[in-house]
Amino acid sequence: MTLTKKAESRPAAPNSWGLARGENPWEYAPAPEATDHIRIEPEYGLFIGNEFVRSTPRKTFTVINPATEEPLAKVAHASKADVGRAVGAAHEAHRSVWSKLPGRERAKYLYRIARIMQERSREFAVVESMNSGKPIKESRDVDVPLAAAHFFYYAGWADKLEYAFPNRDPRSLGVAAQVIPWNFPLLMLAWKIAPALAAGNTVVLKPASTTPLTAYLFADVVRQADLPPGVVNIITGPGEIGMELVTHPDVSKVAFTGSTAVGKMIARALAGSDKKLTLELGGKAANIVFDDAPLDQAIEGIVNGIYFNQGEVCCAGSRLFVQESVYEPLIEKLKARLGTLRVGDPLDKNTDVGAINSAAQLAKVQELVESGIAEGAEMFQPDCELPTRGFFFRPTLFTGVSMSHRIAQEEIFGPVLSVLTFRTPDEAIEKANNTPYGLSAGVWTEKGSRIFKMVNAMRAGVVWANTFNRFDPTSPFGGYKESGYGREGGIHGLGAYLDLSANGVSGR
Ligand code: NDP
Repeated sequence: MTLTKKAESRPAAPNSWGLARGENPWEYAPAPEATDHIRIEPEYGLFIGNEFVRSTPRKTFTVINPATEEPLAKVAHASKADVGRAVGAAHEAHRSVWSKLPGRERAKYLYRIARIMQERSREFAVVESMNSGKPIKESRDVDVPLAAAHFFYYAGWADKLEYAFPNRDPRSLGVAAQVIPWNFPLLMLAWKIAPALAAGNTVVLKPASTTPLTAYLFADVVRQADLPPGVVNIITGPGEIGMELVTHPDVSKVAFTGSTAVGKMIARALAGSDKKLTLELGGKAANIVFDDAPLDQAIEGIVNGIYFNQGEVCCAGSRLFVQESVYEPLIEKLKARLGTLRVGDPLDKNTDVGAINSAAQLAKVQELVESGIAEGAEMFQPDCELPTRGFFFRPTLFTGVSMSHRIAQEEIFGPVLSVLTFRTPDEAIEKANNTPYGLSAGVWTEKGSRIFKMVNAMRAGVVWANTFNRFDPTSPFGGYKESGYGREGGIHGLGAYLDLSANGVSGR
């Protein structure tokens, strides 16, 4: 089936704007971010022991820009032997240097990394947008500052582990194997590497195959910050290399973010081993709007909840529950707001919705949208032009959705919102919790007591009230049910990288 439903037109501007008849109020002059200040190497080797080395045997694959489909660079395709080399380097660095450094010395390195990331933030933002497809205003204002903030935050804990975990003798675990996805390549790297290093572990990180470039830029920062060789190692290769890494016998801790399917495979593979494991997997978050909510504010929260990063967000507010009495005005406002979203070049500072990360992900989004139409939901898309090349998809809204539709059940991981309704708070809770996932949720209401009731009743690791998609290094993040286990961020995220079994009373 093809997507033939006619797109609807954008709203007219109010008379008070004083525009000439027929003049389009939503046109913006292009504002492209410069790319002459960045340097992408033609080829990247694996980053092992602070050196870029070739894979053995030498093998590469090509990384492309999803907005243009043009190649950006070749990167090394690690072999099983390379995984062993990287883990070996990390193991040795942990044994001989990193675990022996006092916390205050580790903290200095983390601060240095954070400062260098800030200094090079423009470079990081541009490379991130070119490689992932996300709008530059998001990589510039969200991904890169938050990544630096994670290093600052965990630098602060590195010499205070005994205070973070009183009456314990916190000890590092050893080598942490970290496998991350393509939706927040740099931010997920920071979520993983910062607490691991603060706790005294060394790491081997495998970025997603479509988005390794900011990880390799980060490798350059590691050298600039003069980290001892082997403390941070980065390898690239397909999923099976990820599996090889997480199951390596010298790995003590595994942290994975990605699909629930792969998370389950990793959990099965590690069952019975003594490796510590945290999994941050998929989601199908409920964003619940009560009739007393400030509607204009809620509209911004809904848009941010599902169209931020093209909806490629594990905690995206992809199921909107609207109280019946405000359904019509809310949908009208939402459709008008969708008409103002600018879809296109990720490097344009005006762009709201960039490119989907890969052809495969675009096909998945299309397939699920087609299932929504086939199952009888009504689709709305604004009438916006899409670039002729690249993996773009219009912001999409489905009304007339029922709980059994695939678009209400499955993670789409794209700019697609399913709207459902409810009458009472209990009905909202029941519907919101009726999902195998439990990562995040949102509540929009003026009543504090209702917020507390909803927050306590919803089976979600994070619940936002009158906001959505807010992240902070001090705040733990993670899921229930098929959204995974363990927490990242805050003290909880630090604990995941420590052995806390020893009693600290007679300790150091
Ligand atoms: P994956 O779970 O396959 O990828 C995430 C990471 O895991 C990547 O680094 C990937 O490597 C690696 N990986 C893949 N297979 C294995 C394996 N067998 N063992 C160890 N590591 C592995 O996600 P996809 O990219 O396939 O996306 C599919 C769907 O997953 C999306 O449509 C979305 O619904 C969901 N997803 C959820 C994310 C989240 O944040 N919760 C993030 C990404 C996707 P490589 O890139 O080389 O395949």
